[in-house]
Amino acid sequence: MRAGAEPYRVHSPGLLWRFYVTLRGFEEVLVRPAAELPRALIAHSRRDKAAASEMRAALEETWLTIAPELRERYRDVLRTVPPVVVVILTRRSPCGCLGHHHPPGVQTRLARRLKAASSAAVAEVDLAYEAIREWQPLPLSDLAADPAIGSDYRREMEGFRFRLALLDVFLHELHHYAAPHAQEKEVRGRSQRFYADALNAYTQAHFGIRYGFER
Ligand SMILES: [Zn+2]
Ligand SMILES: [Zn+2]
Repeated sequence: MRAGAEPYRVHSPGLLWRFYVTLRGFEEVLVRPAAELPRALIAHSRRDKAAASEMRAALEETWLTIAPELRERYRDVLRTVPPVVVVILTRRSPCGCLGHHHPPGVQTRLARRLKAASSAAVAEVDLAYEAIREWQPLPLSDLAADPAIGSDYRREMEGFRFRLALLDVFLHELHHYAAPHAQEKEVRGRSQRFYADALNAYTQAHFGIRYGFER
């Protein structure tokens, strides 16, 4: 998934990404979120421990704060993904993408090892968390400038927004796994609506304001 609005395309992480991320010295944490989500094996370097905790909270906590009718939109995708997904967490991608789905054949040894051990299919994605943190697909400037929202609330909202964005890119990449021939436009449309609607629900519930984020 790319951040900008450039032509829709999907690409595999490729050799550049594989040279960039060697997984040497990476730590792994297994997350068991709510039953409808797959378990996630998050692999991260030691310096990215805090980001791994955010990813874990996104899957275990933020997902459950989202209204069931919004979660329902990923039901078909989640029914198709395998029980375990490897999540390679990095700061940035060499290509500038927010994340990729790794089809079989370009998966890391971590996914291959897991697959060999369990004989079940394993999905793998990478997420570039600093790029995701900076990603602002919707006009949040109105909200940031609203004097009715104090700095504590703003910090809280920024925390929510980051976790929601991590969750959103994760679901986007799983959609590519579940529907390998789907157009990027369709996959992106669903993830952008999910993000916008979840963010609107959050600001409505916390500040009584709908900001009318669109897409
Ligand atoms: Zn995509
Ligand atoms: Zn890329």
